[in-house]
Amino acid sequence: MKLLATVASSALAAGWSYPETFSPGGSSWGPECTVQMRGSPIDLDYTYRHFHFMDCQEAWNMTGYDTQATWKFADNEHTVELTSDDVDANFSGGHIGNEYQFHSFHFHWGDKSGHGGSEHTINGHHTFAEVHFVHHRSDIDLTTGLGFGDGLAVLGFMIEVTDGDESNDAMGELARRLRWQSNKKGNEDGTIQNFDFSINDLTSGVDMNNFYRYEGSLTTPPCSEAVQWTVFKDPIRISEKTAANLLRSADLDDEHIEDNFRPVMPLAERDVIFYSDSSSAFKAAFRNERNFDHERHHRDYDWMHEDHEHEDKHDEEH
Ligand SMILES: [Zn+2]
Repeated sequence: MKLLATVASSALAAGWSYPETFSPGGSSWGPECTVQMRGSPIDLDYTYRHFHFMDCQEAWNMTGYDTQATWKFADNEHTVELTSDDVDANFSGGHIGNEYQFHSFHFHWGDKSGHGGSEHTINGHHTFAEVHFVHHRSDIDLTTGLGFGDGLAVLGFMIEVTDGDESNDAMGELARRLRWQSNKKGNEDGTIQNFDFSINDLTSGVDMNNFYRYEGSLTTPPCSEAVQWTVFKDPIRISEKTAANLLRSADLDDEHIEDNFRPVMPLAERDVIFYSDSSSAFKAAFRNERNFDHERHHRDYDWMHEDHEHEDKHDEEH
């Protein structure tokens, strides 16, 4: 009974929970998450009329992402967040316009059935999970950054479960250790033991020259419209075992977190830019994929077309 009361009061203190629901009164997460001009996440749909293809002509300039570091984890009731005192990482380039300082990273995921998971969807499809590397403009701190349209930058990577090889060993090892350490009671916060890794170790295998960019918001309260989003096209690929470990990586008093993702928000009049390298082979492949998806999106058109043919025959008969 006492335990129950503690859990309930700490949930109240946090003030919000998944899933976010919408009613005539607005978002269950409060007014700041209700009236949004540039909400996140969104569906990254290349049939959308404000979707643009651009050559990536400005290389990423990244410093500190290869630092082998010791990491601290914290379960904040919504996700597991990792920070490191060893890491001083910042980036510019990639058409982002400012220099951004790394702050922390965290995960969003679905449930055992494979439902949901990632926050962003690509052409309507979720992947199993998504990892967010949160940055703030280097000239201001994170809290100040929430007040500026470009105050924060998040680098988002889709995480996909694969039958084949994992993209890298680091994500598997991190998930394994998070599960093992967070399952020990009273150990919701701690230091990852005997495993130092760099940010690059987690994202190796992803071609960073192909990415989506748009202006959005935090995907958790206070939903501040302060984020320049980058979502990479290539997913980080993980095994089923790693996926199972990730699902159990944030256990609070045996209450494990699942479905900690926000539904996609309307794009409205925002532009989404897909930057890619200038490889013509890549573009041709992407064009084929786009055409394929175009057929999928317009399956109803085929039905209408058949119906139309039927009408034509009908007309001929007369
Ligand atoms: Zn996030």
